[in-house]
Amino acid sequence: MIRYLSVLLSLTLASGLPVSPAAAQDTEVGEGWSIALHGGAGTIKRENITPEKDAEIRAALSRALEIGSLILDNGGTAMDAITATIISLENDPNFNAGKGAVFTWDKTNELDASIMDGSDRSAGAVAGINGTKNPILLARAVKDSSPHVMLSGEGANQFSRELGLEQVTVDYYATPRRLKQIEDVLAKQVSAADVDYKFGTVGAVAMDRRGNMAAGTSTGGMTGKRWGRIGDSPIIGAGTYADDRSCAISATGAGEYFIRLGVAHEICTRIRMRWPIAIEEAQLTVPKDAQGNYTYAIHGSEFMLPNSEIQQIADDVIAELGELGGTGGIIFATPWGQAGYSYNTPGMYRGRATSQGEMSVGIYGDED
Ligand code: ASP
Repeated sequence: MIRYLSVLLSLTLASGLPVSPAAAQDTEVGEGWSIALHGGAGTIKRENITPEKDAEIRAALSRALEIGSLILDNGGTAMDAITATIISLENDPNFNAGKGAVFTWDKTNELDASIMDGSDRSAGAVAGINGTKNPILLARAVKDSSPHVMLSGEGANQFSRELGLEQVTVDYYATPRRLKQIEDVLAKQVSAADVDYKFGTVGAVAMDRRGNMAAGTSTGGMTGKRWGRIGDSPIIGAGTYADDRSCAISATGAGEYFIRLGVAHEICTRIRMRWPIAIEEAQLTVPKDAQGNYTYAIHGSEFMLPNSEIQQIADDVIAELGELGGTGGIIFATPWGQAGYSYNTPGMYRGRATSQGEMSVGIYGDED
């Protein structure tokens, strides 16, 4: 292990790649884990949130983060960690997922969720469902117990009942705040895109001690959505993606733009394509012996993309989203132990934790 780290660190010195020792330690397969979560992105500013609400949101994010962290710390799978984290957020009425989901134009709730296992890229998703208490469990059941990837509407509801997932009456999802929001929208006859109620989607990404990655997202969609509108959250590759070779992503924001860019898959693909090129670049910096041969051949298992490169890739894709007119953000986890965010909104409900003892939650754009 010492030799392994020193190889990484000497590579860092030789190549100038800004790999931090903390991040390097996270590359120890069989030891490190990391997790990130979000509770939606949008016009989240200090002046719009009371100190009580601020504290309530931070407590909810911390609770969900602790639930996932504990599973990972005890050697549980990334899939189990993100499922439990998302359930905690779905059950909290502060977020637009499960209880507290936004209302459609017809004053109903149509929930979307998806989940992906990066170890075999198996995935499950549900769109426009109701009746299931925790949509993320239904998405997971589609992955685990059906030959399909995506089920929708009444068929998905029926599948949920047949599997015996916990059912609720439709008024379970309703909260006074969400009712007022839809009444405001209907009174003004404005569409979902014109109101500022579209944040609150939840998601989680993780890497477990085996180096397996997972991602999941759950949402009520956008306030006042009509005509069976489906956003990015249940679309594998747009709102959710996980691949052990590159990253795990969960998105939140104006779904139409995330679908158009295939944001979650795009970020993972850029990381996957960048990695072998970065190894070649690092190899060029290794000293040669008298015969002109490299004194050390860098092996893929010893090499990680530095934090700055991961962040740049995520920021580039979110910048492209912004150029199209889209707002929102993503959380990421990588196979090298990094966990972080990128967003172009004033704030994002978010949190991250790693086996190195890092744990933080944030709301506004000016905090870590
Ligand atoms: N992305 C979600 C959707 O478009 C909404 C959100 O993240 O706030 O349905």
